[in-house]
Order: sequence, then C-alpha cells, then structure tokens
Amino acid sequence: MTNDWRSQRRAMRKDLERRGIRDQRVLDAMERVPRELFVPPAEQDLAYSDQALPIDCGQTISQPYMVALMTECLQLTGNERVLEIGTGSGYQTAVLAELAKEVVSIERWPVLSRQAAQRLSSLGYRNVELRVGDGALGAPDRAPFDRILITAAAEQCPPALWEQLAEGGVLVGPFGERDDQWLESRRKIGGKPVVSYHVPCRFVPFVMGKPVPREIVEPPEERTSRESTDNTGPASRSGEQNG
Ligand code: SAH
Repeated sequence: MTNDWRSQRRAMRKDLERRGIRDQRVLDAMERVPRELFVPPAEQDLAYSDQALPIDCGQTISQPYMVALMTECLQLTGNERVLEIGTGSGYQTAVLAELAKEVVSIERWPVLSRQAAQRLSSLGYRNVELRVGDGALGAPDRAPFDRILITAAAEQCPPALWEQLAEGGVLVGPFGERDDQWLESRRKIGGKPVVSYHVPCRFVPFVMGKPVPREIVEPPEERTSRESTDNTGPASRSGEQNG
C-alpha cells in the first residue's frame, strides 16, 4: 500500500480538485511528479498526505495543495521563463519545470540545492538551472522573468525581484508577518502591482543576506538544531505549516 505511489498520486489529484484546483495542466503535473522522491526517507509514508514535511536545514517541502495553488496562480502556458526563490527539496521546481519553458531556482542552503540537483537530474529535468545564493538579489543576468515564485515568507517583496519581473508578468508568494501571512499574486501592469490575495498561509521565513560561512561548513544535523533556535524551525506536525 505505502509504495503504491501511482494510486496515491491519483488520490491526491482528486483531493486537489475537490479543494478547488481547476487548471488541468497543474493537476496533470502534480500527478506526474513523484513527491515520494523529494521527502526524507523517514517521511515517505506521508509523501501524499496534504501537509508540509520537514527537510534538512530546518526547512520544509511545501504542502501539495499549496504547491498546486501557487502554480495555478502563476497561470503558466508553457512558454515562460520562471524564477523560483527557495528551491528547498526541488519538488516545486519539478512542478514548474513540467509547465514552463525554463526555470531558474535559487536556494541559500548549498546542501539543499545539491540534493535537489541530484533529484531533478535523475528525473531527467533539463530545463532547470539551480543556483546557490541570496534569492533577494534574484538572477539579474537572466532577467526579465515572465513569472516569479517566492516559496518563503517575506514581510515585503524584495525590490530586485519586482524589478526583474517582465511587464505583464506575475509574481506569487506568501507575504506578511510570521502569524499573518497571505498568499498573493502581483501582476505588473504599467510597472505597478495589481494585487490579488488568495489564502492565509504559514511558510518558513525568507532570510535575507548571503549564507554565512558557518552555514556552509557545518553538517546538516548541527545546522538544523541551530536554525530551530533562529526561528526557522521545521514544519509543525499539526498541519499548520504550508510551506
Ligand atoms: N519549494 C520548496 C520549499 C522550501 S521552503 C519545496 O517545496 O521543497 C523555502 C525555502 O526557501 C527554504 O529551503 C529556504 O532555505 C529558502 N530560502 C529562504 N530565504 C531565502 C533566500 N533569501 N534566498 C534563497 N532561498 C531562501
């Protein structure tokens, strides 16, 4: 039962449809990407339950519903160049790679980026470029982007990301304070944001600034405990955390 992944994916699709995800391309992509390969082995039995799960470095793989909703909000047609901030496990990256022309994804934890790179390349995704660094700076050498997805919660949208969004493009992400976040879409019309608010949510924090050396050299176990006290604790198991 636990490893009948295909039927679990089908059940997840039905659940996403029941919860209001309508875009058939998004649902198809969610049914194709093997989430069980993006969660830690100890969490595999929960791969298709609708919750965020802890990954290394005190971060989370986002809840399937939130991944589907954020992707739907991006309104991808297949021709877009997408910038993702917060590669994490690489799961959302894979869903984007299914639906867009190319994806540039930035993660501040080198170990997470490495693990994601292994998964994505073994699954055959060739339209993804992973970078390690501060996502607040975006990827100016690849701008403008038709779509930008931020998968960690910032109080304000980093200005460089808004600048790197093409006219007519859409930026999606969770914004607000720790206990008061909303998933928003901001479409750039005449250089100005036209904002839609979708659902309240709770994501791990967007952490500004370059990774400091201690983060790069310490093994993941030590970083996880240190990060927990830094207010970037792992997903709660109560189902509260979405991403
Ligand atoms: N999309 C991921 C979600 C990971 S959680 C998944 O489904 O697996 C959010 C990620 O954003 C974390 O991995 C965190 O390290 C990363 N992050 C937070 N602030 C960042 C920043 N300034 N630049 C790049 N990545 C950042």
